[in-house]
Amino acid sequence: MQYKAPMRDIQFVYHELLKSEEHFKSIPAYAHVGREDVDSLLEMAASFSENELSPLNRVGDEVGCKYDNGNVITPPGFKEAYKQYCELGFPALSAEEEFGGLGMPFSLSTVINEMVGTANWSLSMYPGLSHGAIATVEHHGTDEQKRTYLEKMVTGEWSGTMCLTESHAGSDLGLVRTKAEPQEDGTYKINGEKIFISAGEHDMTDNIIHIVLARLPDAPKGTKGISLFIVPKFLVKEDGSVGERNGVKCGSIEHKMGIHGNSTAVLNFDGATGYLIGPKNRGLNCMFTFMNVARIGTAVQGLSASEYAFQGGLTYAKDRLAMRSLSGAKEPEKSADPIIVHPAVRNMLLTSKAFAEGGRALVYYLGMFADSVAKAEGEEQKFADEMLSLLTPIAKAFLTETGYESANHGVQIYGGHGFISEWGMEQNVRDTRISCLYEGTTEIQSLDLLGRKVLGSQGKLLRNFSKIIHKFCKEHEENDEMGQFIRPLAKLNKQWGDLTARIGMQAMQNPDAVGGAAVDYMYFSGYVTLAYLWARMALIAQTELNAYETTERDFYDAKVKTAQFFFAKLLPRTETYIKRIDSGVEPFMSMKVEQFAF
Ligand SMILES: Cc1cc2nc3c(=O)[nH]c(=O)nc-3n(C[C@H](O)[C@H](O)[C@H](O)COP(=O)(O)OP(=O)(O)OC[C@H]3O[C@@H](n4cnc5c(N)ncnc54)[C@H](O)[C@@H]3O)c2cc1C
Repeated sequence: MQYKAPMRDIQFVYHELLKSEEHFKSIPAYAHVGREDVDSLLEMAASFSENELSPLNRVGDEVGCKYDNGNVITPPGFKEAYKQYCELGFPALSAEEEFGGLGMPFSLSTVINEMVGTANWSLSMYPGLSHGAIATVEHHGTDEQKRTYLEKMVTGEWSGTMCLTESHAGSDLGLVRTKAEPQEDGTYKINGEKIFISAGEHDMTDNIIHIVLARLPDAPKGTKGISLFIVPKFLVKEDGSVGERNGVKCGSIEHKMGIHGNSTAVLNFDGATGYLIGPKNRGLNCMFTFMNVARIGTAVQGLSASEYAFQGGLTYAKDRLAMRSLSGAKEPEKSADPIIVHPAVRNMLLTSKAFAEGGRALVYYLGMFADSVAKAEGEEQKFADEMLSLLTPIAKAFLTETGYESANHGVQIYGGHGFISEWGMEQNVRDTRISCLYEGTTEIQSLDLLGRKVLGSQGKLLRNFSKIIHKFCKEHEENDEMGQFIRPLAKLNKQWGDLTARIGMQAMQNPDAVGGAAVDYMYFSGYVTLAYLWARMALIAQTELNAYETTERDFYDAKVKTAQFFFAKLLPRTETYIKRIDSGVEPFMSMKVEQFAF
């Protein structure tokens, strides 16, 4: 399958829905960013993704990464494509100017990541991990650490990783055992084993900068006793060049279900020299800088899976002939009608389209808040931070789960051919499955949303967003054409608050209630969040259709129709989530472990 960047929709969401130009002007650090610059970068990314990255997607899957005595050889063409990615300046895009970055908004990187990632997710993960590592060093590094590492990471000459997971510790990082022994010269000796490290070893860059969680000898148990270290693959000499090999080696790479083009490494730290970054025992807090970038990046993977499935499914559904439309032949000159005439096929196509375009709106919306967190000030920054806190777990969990649903629809639309490798649909299912697992599983994101973000803030973070939705509904309640969207949205917005209060009450009786409700609550929240964004998109499209002699009637009309599909066919799923939550935790918990099987 050949990826085609959905430029018109990208422009619609970024410029028309989220008013990127006004947004840049409102933040002094981005006031210089103009529409023309943005559009030419987007064109560049689109052409690179379509022509260079997309053709390598299947090679990456079929050939995969090869392990050779501590080294990893990436699939044919990956190294060259990565070099081009760096030459285009993409690693530097939203990095700080002081260290060679271009100082562009994070939201713009998010848009570009969508194109790069949909074309070739495995390849996009190599620079993807570096973005998080760069952000961590920018935020928490000393001046010397910034001088030593950032410039080369920003050009893409060096890449970065995120080393958290150990064989016994994934969701629960409080169990991390890797040790960090202080040395007289102020460095640390790192000993331990990390597993599942994405881009942990490869042949694309001269050095790899690992950001590693480890425990000091006297550290308290649990998450409050974890510190963060920079551990370069090659030590860096005084003059900034690459020096001798550090004591970190790749023991093997995993054989896995998907993303074969990205190396998933076991890393053995054997007395490796590490440099503390951030305060002692506060490593997990510092790591959140990395994880937040990575979580938005993973939310993008969900939208990418929906987009990919939609593009492939649409091409096939217009071409494949099978049976006649029940309402009479649509293409009588052919031996049968194309399958796009059948409502069931349209259901799958429109589901993927609604998740892809709605997901695009959600991740770009998040990107805008991330811009404000990075560069706005005062109340505006605080508010953006709170919105980002609330919406990140929703975007990560909801978009990856719905991305997986769409990927399966992609296979289904192709019938038996969907199961065959050459069409690319089964690869999409395999590649995207990991997005529901890494960067915090769906269950962990759901707990974070309900437990930490919503109940943990006594509902404040949710109220912030509910007020935005309420204001939007009030402003347009008199608009007859919008009633079909505004009425259900206003009702769901109220139900969201009521549902939260009921879970809070359940939790006072039974602490398991939060765990019991969390995943259903995340889905409910995801649908309402997308409903808000779909209603806004419908409003813009309807306004265009009413007010202007637009040459793009079909585009805007399709927007309204996709919004109608979302509200009529997908949003009613929320009723099930309410019922499931209200039925309480007993149906999960009443069975004794011994009763599960006989
Ligand atoms: C291809 C790949 C790439 C990866 N890349 C990286 C990387 O670059 N860096 C890195 O550090 N790690 C990486 N990981 C690791 C990944 O982040 C973890 O696998 C993930 O966080 C889950 O941890 P776990 O596998 O230990 O599962 P566990 O934590 O053992 O979870 C098992 C199951 O129990 C559930 N569960 C656990 N606790 C709870 C709870 N309290 N409530 C409800 N359910 C719960 C989980 O949701 C899951 O379904 C990668 C993994 C893979 C497979």
